Amino acid sequence: MGNDVLWWEEENRQLLSAVCRNCPEPHFQRRSGDLPHIGCCAYEPVFTLFEIYKMIAAGKTEFFLKEIYANPQNEIYDYEIVAGASIQPLFYERSSEEDESPAERYERLKRSPNTAYLAVDERLAYAVCQFFIDGKGCGLDPRFKTSICRSFICSSIEEQLTEEERKHLSAWQRAIRDEAEPFHRRHKAILEEKGWTLHNHVHGIVEYFRQVSQEAPLF
Ligand code: SF4
Ligand code: SF4
Repeated sequence: MGNDVLWWEEENRQLLSAVCRNCPEPHFQRRSGDLPHIGCCAYEPVFTLFEIYKMIAAGKTEFFLKEIYANPQNEIYDYEIVAGASIQPLFYERSSEEDESPAERYERLKRSPNTAYLAVDERLAYAVCQFFIDGKGCGLDPRFKTSICRSFICSSIEEQLTEEERKHLSAWQRAIRDEAEPFHRRHKAILEEKGWTLHNHVHGIVEYFRQVSQEAPLF
């Protein structure tokens, strides 16, 4: 597929589309013209052991430790790191027509299990991925983009594809998943066996991945 609607970029193994420059997907429309138009980059990327390994193998340990691991905006789990989104100031402002701010609405919706899913959408409408650069797009080194960021294609794009193109799309999405997920599972099991997590042994994990990259490089 070599058209503007969807193409495969082999170097970074990612799917790209010119449609994203003016995102038509209803789910990702902003609530106000004052908010940047970011499409689905309201997302909070989850770095698994696969992306962490790639940073270390590429000699970007400093970047991993300072920008990802030590970033107070990020949430560290045992074997994953969620890169927290930036929330636009409008989220906290109450307009003259409304009796609650989006943030207050978010808190209210979150309280009931019946409306919790609406709370997620409320926050999403004001969130911007920390790597998004207004007017440019993704500012993260493409080698370290998560498998979701490299493979997500919404229905607005899918609808423009032929049957044949959709088959290519599924094959590429599978290829991205089949590389990242087994790697994460395999190394998570090894680290669990050692009793190491990102909380208690981050430097040991960095050294472990440095050795893996020298002895059995993936790339
Ligand atoms: S993938 Fe779809 S939702 Fe995301 S920016 Fe592109 S057009 Fe918008
Ligand atoms: S990492 Fe890049 S592609 Fe992924 S959500 Fe952030 S800006 Fe978008």
